[in-house]
Amino acid sequence: MANASPVLVDPTKQYPGPPFDTPKQSAPGTVAKLDPPADHGESSYRGHGRLVGRKALVTGGDSGIGRAVAIAFAREGASVVITHLPAEQKDADEVVTLLGGEGATVRSIAGDLKDEAFCRSLVNDAYEALGGLDILVNVAGRQTHQESIENLSTAQFDETFKANVYGLFWLCKAALERMPAGSTIVNTASIQAYQPSDILLDYASTKAAIVAFTKSLAKQVAEKGIRVNAVAPGPVWTALQPSGGQPMEKVRDFGASVPMKRPGQPVECAPLYVLLASKESSFVTGEIYGVTGGNPLP
Ligand code: NAD
Ligand code: MG
Repeated sequence: MANASPVLVDPTKQYPGPPFDTPKQSAPGTVAKLDPPADHGESSYRGHGRLVGRKALVTGGDSGIGRAVAIAFAREGASVVITHLPAEQKDADEVVTLLGGEGATVRSIAGDLKDEAFCRSLVNDAYEALGGLDILVNVAGRQTHQESIENLSTAQFDETFKANVYGLFWLCKAALERMPAGSTIVNTASIQAYQPSDILLDYASTKAAIVAFTKSLAKQVAEKGIRVNAVAPGPVWTALQPSGGQPMEKVRDFGASVPMKRPGQPVECAPLYVLLASKESSFVTGEIYGVTGGNPLP
């Protein structure tokens, strides 16, 4: 894995490209089985004090993009609560141990975002643990490919919308009751909102919903001094894909179709979340920022 120290690095060669031979996993997947391992910034992300004193709740913070956000935020000086599914306790513990060992205040809370009562208690618990709440980062999401609408069950359609859209709605609603002016919300959309794959009918639809939700909520809360933006990644090397997000033959070629000819790494998404959460981006709201390796958003 490359690190950030050389002055110039060719981004096309900075991280591995396809073909990949990582094993298939069952959802929700773990970073431990990713081959090659993903870079979440554990040894490559350096903070610059941009979130000192901030109090952040990061969903999906055990693994993938959420783990990279938690690492970056803690190294930028924020106190962080991460949340994850109970099955992901081991991945979450690694994040808490790593960042706690660096002196950061980090806690993990397990639960299912498809449950409204959990979402409300999560915001309460994060508020108590952090002594306030001024950043909400919604990274958690589920993705299960289906070749045809005939095979897409109501149960799957419902679960994908519950986890990706309802959970985000419930968390935003509860967080906004407590957030002071200057607070920031950062959601996670996807290139799938704009260029949906045939096999991701439900998932792509949730990501399009998140784009509209972000733009609408941003207008609604601008006068309160709260900003709402989203990051829209292209292919990123995480457990989401080999745990049912894509068929394994597509995981093999993951990233081949973007101009950089490789998937992004979670750590390459983190700087956008830091920027959108920080007060430096004070005039930016209602925007969707791509991190796609060269497939620009429309
Ligand atoms: P990931 O599997 O590492 O992270 C997703 C996390 O979502 C899981 O760790 C889990 O904790 C959480 N989650 C899922 N369902 C949940 C539920 N019901 N309750 C609580 N938590 C739940 O994968 P990732 O790729 O880092 O995904 C993070 C986000 O990035 C997702 O929203 C995904 O849609 C988005 N995204 C990923 C890619 C990609 O190529 N990896 C591309 C575009 C967008
Ligand atoms: Mg996970």
